Amino acid sequence: MTLIADLLSQDTTFSFEFYPPRSEKGTKQLMTTMEHLLPYNPSFISVTYGAGGSSRQQTLDIVKELKHNTRSTILPHLTCIGHTRNEIKSLINQYIDIGITDILALHGDQPKDSVALPEGDFRFATELIDFLRTNYDLTLGVAAHTEGHPAASTRLNDLDHQSSKIRAADFAITQFFFDIDHYISFCNEMEKRNVGTPIIPGIIPVTNPAEVNRMIELAGGTFPKKLWEEINSARNQEERQFVGVNYAVQLIKQLLSAGAPGIHIYPMNRWQATEELLEHLGFSPH
Ligand SMILES: Cc1cc2nc3c(=O)[nH]c(=O)nc-3n(C[C@H](O)[C@H](O)[C@H](O)COP(=O)(O)OP(=O)(O)OC[C@H]3O[C@@H](n4cnc5c(N)ncnc54)[C@H](O)[C@@H]3O)c2cc1C
Repeated sequence: MTLIADLLSQDTTFSFEFYPPRSEKGTKQLMTTMEHLLPYNPSFISVTYGAGGSSRQQTLDIVKELKHNTRSTILPHLTCIGHTRNEIKSLINQYIDIGITDILALHGDQPKDSVALPEGDFRFATELIDFLRTNYDLTLGVAAHTEGHPAASTRLNDLDHQSSKIRAADFAITQFFFDIDHYISFCNEMEKRNVGTPIIPGIIPVTNPAEVNRMIELAGGTFPKKLWEEINSARNQEERQFVGVNYAVQLIKQLLSAGAPGIHIYPMNRWQATEELLEHLGFSPH
C-alpha cells in the first residue's frame, strides 16, 4: 500500500468512498458494489465512520475486508465527536496493527436519529490532527467544504478555520459539489492563505436527487436547478443515470483540466452509475 501523500505527488488519483450499510440488504449491495468497482484499482478507497453505535465497528470490519480484497490504499474516516483521547488511541492502534497508514481526520456531527454523544476530548478536527501528528506517523487527510461549513459563524471565519486545518493536513477531500466555480474559488482562497495542500474534489454521479437533497440539507451546499429538473423529468432509472453520469463526467473533465490533484467519487454504495462514469473517463477493470 502506498501513502496517499506519495500517490498524490506521483500522479492524479482517483478514489471511492463507501459507508457502513444499515441493513442486510445494504450489506449485500455493498459486497456486489465492491465486486464491480474494486477491479478498477482505485488509488485509494475511503470508508466513512458513523457518529455512534454499531456502524463504528462496521467501519473497522469493512476496512479489514477491503485490506484482504484489494491492493488499493484504504483510508478509514475517523470522527472525534464524543471520543476520548484513549478511545482514539485504541482505534488507531487497531488500524496500525492491520497496516493502515492513512486516516481522514474529522470532527463529525451529532447523530440525528439517536441520543446525543457526550462532548468528547476534541472540539475541532484540528485538535484531532494535532493529537494524531504528535502521537503517530500517519498520512492525514481532512474534510473541505467548498461552499462553507453550515455551522460556521461567517464565511471569513469559515475560510480561516478551514485554511488552518487544511494547511496542517497532507491532503483534503471536498464535500461533493456541482459547480466548478465553487471548487476554483475555494482553492484560490486557500492559496491566498498559503495553503499548498492538495485538495481533492468530491464528485457524486446523482441518480437519486431526493437522497442528495437530504445530504445537502445536512452538509450545506447547492444543487443546480437545471440538473434537478432534468433528473426529475427522466422517465426511468436508466435515463436518470444517463443525466447524472453525463453531468459528473463533464464536471470531472473540467476539474482535471483545471489541475485538480485527483477525483474522489461518492458511489453511495452502488456500482451502476460509477461504473458507467469510469467507462466514460476511459478506465477499465483489470
Ligand atoms: C470528505 C468528507 C468526509 C466525511 N466523512 C464523514 C464521516 O465519515 N463520518 C461523519 O460523521 N461525518 C463525515 N463528514 C461530515 C463532517 O464530519 C461534518 O461536515 C462536520 O460537521 C464537520 O467536520 P470537519 O472535520 O470539517 O470539522 P471542523 O473542521 O472541526 O469544523 C466544524 C465546525 O467548527 C468550526 N471551527 C473549526 N475550527 C474552529 C475554531 N478554531 N474556532 C471556532 N470554530 C471552529 C468550523 O467553522 C465548522 O463550523 C465528512 C465530510 C467530508 C467533506
